[in-house]
This record gives sequence, structure tokens and C-alpha cells, in this order.
Amino acid sequence: MDYDVIVVGGGNAALCAALSASESARRILVLERAPEDEAGGNSRFTAGLFRLAYRGPDDLKSVIPDLSAEEIANTDFGTYTEEQFLDDMARLTEYRCDPDLTEILVKQSLPTAQWMRNRGVRFTAAWGRQAFKIGGKFKFWGGLTVEAVGGGPGLVEAETQIAKKAGIEIWYGARAIDLLTDDDGVHGVVVRKNKKTLQLKAKAVVLAAGGFQANTEWRTRYMGPGWELAKVRGTRFNTGDAIRMALDAGAAAHGNWSGCHAVAWDRNAPETGDLAVGDGFQKHSYPWGVYINADGKRFVDEGADFRNYTYAKYGRVILQQPKQFAWQIFDAKVKAQLRDEYRIKQVTRVTGNSLEELVAKLDDTNGENALKELKAYNAAVRTDIPFNPNVKDGRCTENLPINKSNWANTLDTPPFEAYAVTCGITFSFGGLKINTDAQVINSDGEPIKGLYAAGELVGGIFWFNYPGGSGLTNGSVFGKIAGGSAARAA
Ligand SMILES: Cc1cc2nc3c(=O)[nH]c(=O)nc-3n(C[C@H](O)[C@H](O)[C@H](O)COP(=O)(O)OP(=O)(O)OC[C@H]3O[C@@H](n4cnc5c(N)ncnc54)[C@H](O)[C@@H]3O)c2cc1C
Repeated sequence: MDYDVIVVGGGNAALCAALSASESARRILVLERAPEDEAGGNSRFTAGLFRLAYRGPDDLKSVIPDLSAEEIANTDFGTYTEEQFLDDMARLTEYRCDPDLTEILVKQSLPTAQWMRNRGVRFTAAWGRQAFKIGGKFKFWGGLTVEAVGGGPGLVEAETQIAKKAGIEIWYGARAIDLLTDDDGVHGVVVRKNKKTLQLKAKAVVLAAGGFQANTEWRTRYMGPGWELAKVRGTRFNTGDAIRMALDAGAAAHGNWSGCHAVAWDRNAPETGDLAVGDGFQKHSYPWGVYINADGKRFVDEGADFRNYTYAKYGRVILQQPKQFAWQIFDAKVKAQLRDEYRIKQVTRVTGNSLEELVAKLDDTNGENALKELKAYNAAVRTDIPFNPNVKDGRCTENLPINKSNWANTLDTPPFEAYAVTCGITFSFGGLKINTDAQVINSDGEPIKGLYAAGELVGGIFWFNYPGGSGLTNGSVFGKIAGGSAARAA
């Protein structure tokens, strides 16, 4: 059987590519390495948050048509302009993000979500995670306002059903292992399915098989010593297969190969993601508390910025601590404000009615130092500045070796709680080089005929850090472009 387009991968980028290809090509095959019950890649593990540029409620209504007049009246959605999105990308990637691809990411963010909505994917506003209620009105604070209905599982399910209805074939348990190439480019894929090796011909191939974060050896080889000790937050299937296949076919390696998205993740979480818990092992409320390491010392500015702009780089900082873990410490004043993930049953938590009692329970940790550190922190808080979670409130500490810049609450109201976290890697930043048509570029700087790529395995867009919710947007925007380009080439 010959295909017009074969898409390698079964997550958001792959399914968007397949849907887009189906608008101008007929025979489309999606190869998903995972069995059906584990399909959907990292995309399925997400909360389904999409970072979109929008000018106000009218733009949001174009992707969330069921937003009611009452909801609009009771919510301050603010705006998140293309300029703000571009600024966030530039600032967080330390001005290394590819300017052409970043412009497309930003400018196509809303139109791509509108296209997904028109194809049948439903979105809602992320009230629960990205807005705080102040004076009876919800206010969105981090430029991240839209999520897929049903989160990541809902997104993948919707895309899969739409793809099947559009006549797209999906093979599960089908691992692409090589590309069929000759001097004229790429002509298909070699796949292992049911212990058999098959050669499948296609006029064009889209690679959307995720990064290499679940490959322990590559992680350590490219990110450096210690990275074999990180836990993988998402799918165990993203081991860099498609990156390797493309490199073997002459593709250029591109982007931040030693960099990755990595967050605070429960110290006792399993080695790779658990779909029953999803993203529940993450612990993202650190801006309201303090971090302590095994030496009993603070080591990072927990309030440097909104969590959307720090969470993706602090996993690395935790990995660098003694014994590769840390405690997040809160008091009762902020308990109601802690995110849902602090209330799951698989949580590593200790509590105490005094700071003395709490530090005595911190396993593997110098309690004496920890107590001194927490007391010094309490004494350094500018309590004259009011706490406000919706803005960078400037309620800081002063004269500490590492100050906290915002949201510095004293730890004075029992019971106190401490949560043990380690580093959870989300995805690798390095990968393949693509042009603005999502065509893969070879190491001579020329496009490889018949080969396209999208999503996590594309390098050059994210470096060092990442604005929350950009991964799904990235997969959708470039998946749509890759699928369209591949279908036109077919
Ligand atoms: C816990 C968690 C929460 C997250 N939350 C968010 C969020 O809310 N918003 C956001 O924007 N981003 C979030 N992210 C990041 C986001 O998941 C990724 O950026 C995005 O989903 C990547 O999409 P993708 O399609 O490129 O990769 P994936 O969704 O990972 O898909 C890759 C697919 O390729 C398949 N595959 C691998 N190798 C092969 C092979 N050899 N042959 C065939 N198939 C193969 C895999 O099985 C998988 O289906 C989160 C990630 C995690 C882990």
C-alpha cells in the first residue's frame, strides 16, 4: 500500500499534521509507536493549556463560542498581544529563539486554534489554573487563558476521532525505525509492527514523534552528568527515534541540545509518566512558599516571576541540588491557594505544628540549618508590602544571600507543610532544523525533499526556558503547516 503522506507520531503535532494533510491529500497514515491505551504522547499528559495571542474576549469567543455574556462580565481576561507573546519568547529564550519560526508560532497561534475549533476540537477558559478571583471577579494573570476541553486526554481523543472520521488511518504499536531515502529525498518509512518489519512508501513524510527525553542515555550524553537521574514526566515512548532517523538521512542537528523543559516533580513519582495521575506529580505553587535543599538552604528566587515563566527552568536547578531534591514549604495562610496537584493522594508531604516539628520530619535534610534558614527568611520579609497573587507584588525579602522578589509570605501560621520534589523532565529542546514550510533542512542548509517535521523534535524554538502552554501551540501551528506542505508535495 502506498500513501500520500505518512505521519510518524501520535500526539498533538502528529494529529494536527494528519488533519491538515487530509485537506488536500487522500491516503494518510499515522504511525503511533505506543499501543492504543498509551497513545497520544506527551500531549495526552498535559492539562491542555494553549498559549494564544488574543486582543480580548472577541478573539477568545472565536475559539470558545460558548463563552457566555455572564462569564465575560465576571472575568477580566485582559489581553495577550502578539507583541507580548514575542517578548516572552525572546526574553525567556535569552534572545536565541529562531525569529522566523517564532513569528509564525505567535502570529498563527490564534488562527490555528480557530482552525482546530472549526475541525471540531473544543476549548474552554482555564479558570481553574490561570485565574484568581479577586473582589468577586476572575482575573487571568499569565497570558495563558485557553485550554482544551478535557485537558490533554480530551484533546487527543477529540483529534483522534476527527482524524478517523476524515478517513485517516492510524496504526498503533507501530514503531518507525528508518526512512526510505535515495538521492531524490525521502520516499517512505520502515516500521516495526507486530514483530514484523515493513517498508511503507509515501510521497511525503512528517516526523512528529517527540523529543529524546525518555532516552536515558541520550539525556545524559547531551544534557550532561546527572540527567540520567531525572524522572520523565510524560510518555516513555519519546526516545528520539525520529530525530535519529532524520540525522541518518542527512538532517542538521539544531537548537539547544543540552537544554530542556524540566519542573518540580514529586520525589517519589515513577520513572516515567503515569496516565492515571497525568500532570498531578508536578508541584507548581512554589511562588507562595520557599524552597529548602538537603543542606537546609534556600537556593533559588521562588518569586522571580509568575510561575508560567519560571517553572520550566527550575527543574534543572533542583537536579543540581545535593541528593537531587528539595522541599517546598508553606504555611496555613496559603494552603487554600495551592494548586489541585497538592491534594492528590500520591503526594510526598510532611506536616508540623511548629517550624521545629516540621524540620525534624524533613528526611535526608539538615534540620538545624533548615530552621535557621526559615527563621532568617521570616525576618527578612517586607511585611509592609501587601500580598497580591495577580501581579508581581514586590513583596520581597531583603538582605538574604538569595532574596525572594515577589509574594514573600512569612511562614508563621501552623500547620506547616513541606512537599518533597525532584526534577521531572518534560521535553528536550534540541532537535531538527526546519524552514517556514516545516521542511527538514540538511546539514548543507538545503531542504530534504519529502521530509517535514513538527512539535517537540524541532530545535531552535525553545532555549533555556519556555513560556507555559507554548508546547501544544507549537505542535499545532507547525503540525498544521507540515501536514499542509507534505500534502502539497504529494
Ligand atoms: C506532564 C506534562 C504536562 C504538560 N502540560 C502542557 C500544557 O498544559 N500545555 C502545553 O502547551 N504543553 C504542555 N506540555 C508539553 C507538551 O506535552 C508537548 O510540548 C507537546 O505535547 C508535544 O507534542 P508532540 O506532538 O510534539 O509530542 P508528543 O505528544 O509527545 O507525541 C509524540 C508521539 O510520537 C510517538 N513516537 C515516538 N517514537 C515513535 C516512533 N519511532 N514511531 C512512531 N511513533 C513514535 C509517541 O508515542 C507519541 O505519540 C506538558 C508535558 C507534560 C509531560
